[in-house]
Amino acid sequence: MQVKTQKDEIETYLSDASNMAGGSAEKLFLPENVDEIAEILKDADAAGTAVTVSGARTGTVGGAIPYGGVVVSLEKLNKIRSIDKTALFAIVEPGVILADLQSAIDNEGLFYPPDPTEWSCQIGGTVATNASGARSFKYGATRRFVRRLTVVLASGEIIDLIRGETVSDASGQIAVRTRGGREITARVPTYDRPNVRKNVSGYYNTQPLDAIDIFIGSEGTLGVIAEIELELRPKPEGFFSGIVFFQSGSQLLSFVDEAMARSFAAREAAEQRSATDIDASLLEYFDGNALRFIAEKFPEAPADAAGAIFFEQETTAANEDEMLERWNELLERHGADLDRSWFTTTEQDRERMRAFRHALPVAVNERITRYKQKKVGTDMAVPDENFAGFLRFYDAILSASGIDHVIFGHIGDRHLHANLLPKDDGEAEKARHIYGRCVAQAIMLGGTVSAEHGIGKLKRKYLSAMMGERYLNEMAELKRAFDPNGILGRGNMFEEKYLD
Ligand SMILES: Cc1cc2nc3c(=O)[nH]c(=O)nc-3n(C[C@H](O)[C@H](O)[C@H](O)COP(=O)(O)OP(=O)(O)OC[C@H]3O[C@@H](n4cnc5c(N)ncnc54)[C@H](O)[C@@H]3O)c2cc1C
Repeated sequence: MQVKTQKDEIETYLSDASNMAGGSAEKLFLPENVDEIAEILKDADAAGTAVTVSGARTGTVGGAIPYGGVVVSLEKLNKIRSIDKTALFAIVEPGVILADLQSAIDNEGLFYPPDPTEWSCQIGGTVATNASGARSFKYGATRRFVRRLTVVLASGEIIDLIRGETVSDASGQIAVRTRGGREITARVPTYDRPNVRKNVSGYYNTQPLDAIDIFIGSEGTLGVIAEIELELRPKPEGFFSGIVFFQSGSQLLSFVDEAMARSFAAREAAEQRSATDIDASLLEYFDGNALRFIAEKFPEAPADAAGAIFFEQETTAANEDEMLERWNELLERHGADLDRSWFTTTEQDRERMRAFRHALPVAVNERITRYKQKKVGTDMAVPDENFAGFLRFYDAILSASGIDHVIFGHIGDRHLHANLLPKDDGEAEKARHIYGRCVAQAIMLGGTVSAEHGIGKLKRKYLSAMMGERYLNEMAELKRAFDPNGILGRGNMFEEKYLD
């Protein structure tokens, strides 16, 4: 196993897409198998050394940034062990890059729906953050596709978790057995989960709770995810996709409402549904500012549009033509600018649409870096009935600020990212204040402070505002059960004082 101690060798592992400053570490470990991970953790635990788990560092909340201690990078554990075409699953090491998995699966004629926009992330990172993305509208987040995990605990002990095998009891206790036979018991936190479509704020806590779900989305704080079995699907025959522009924001929203309602109705009808029902797999939003912001890379986007929607529906050879007509009729009725919109059924053009969607967060990050600022981007979601009001709130508060901003994201999940783009420290201060007001508004509306990016180190004070002391203490109690000395992911999710 390689161990690096030189400053220049460790440098890259001290930051992630959050641009948080001040990262430091004494050592970097590059294990190549589960036993090596176990050995590193056992030694660190005995010495009380903090361990930060590093994936591809595409995370936006500083979860992979160490502030002291050692870093364990999983990049050498990058093998796709197997892809089973018949039973529809893949077994992968955590350091496999999502783009590599997607292409291997595609070559087999299979489909893995989770699509967190940034495909350079590692599968372990997507599991540790329960990443979601555009297609979560139809398929849900990464959690839904994880069937089995091997996890190395802080003590170096290893647990194997198979979905459905270990579930909490009626009193909220859960017992997990290590490979060595030791039983670890923990209490499931008791907070109510907000009634939103996506939520990754704090440990997952349904009742009953499957043990595997405690570790999915635990942001490197409970164990190192060392092997993953993922469910796959057959690849759809085809896709019909479009990026459609609207001159009126209210028509855009009424289009989304109807596309969502019809998609839900089609899914509910299940076997009884017609092959030509509207059933979107993704519905993504760009406001007018966002379109103008990426006009340099995509000048063909109309600069005068109020906003745009990127949609996709899976098709078959038999229904493709009819689906085109159905979408056309729906779009026309809601006043979409059909002449200037883009539609495709080909893989190549679909890739260009994906690139258009990906270009936005990348351009935001580039711009923030150019001005040497920290990202001020929201990740909140509110219940469906409060969404339109929350979007009006965003529009009003951001426009009044005078700071450059863009709003885009997963409108089908009622989850948008409002990004403020400060140019100097004065604007940054103002932007942070606005961010705080958005958090307060989301909490007041019964929402979550993080729908998909997680809490990491950047957003823990907002998790504290959402949860309150009692529930942060319950989360800390759960963490202590699996990591009694608090060495893993120190500073992620909650402050260290909760672990004393
Ligand atoms: C341009 C851009 C767009 C993005 N869009 C989305 C999006 O649409 N949806 C979305 O969900 N996210 C999005 N993200 C965020 C990010 O890509 C995801 O959170 C991703 O899942 C992180 O994976 P990673 O390998 O980079 O993890 P890292 O950033 O390295 O780590 C993230 C967290 O997981 C922990 N971790 C990593 N690997 C392991 C492991 N094997 N075991 C235990 N803990 C581990 C780390 O300690 C850290 O706390 C975006 C990021 C960028 C830069």
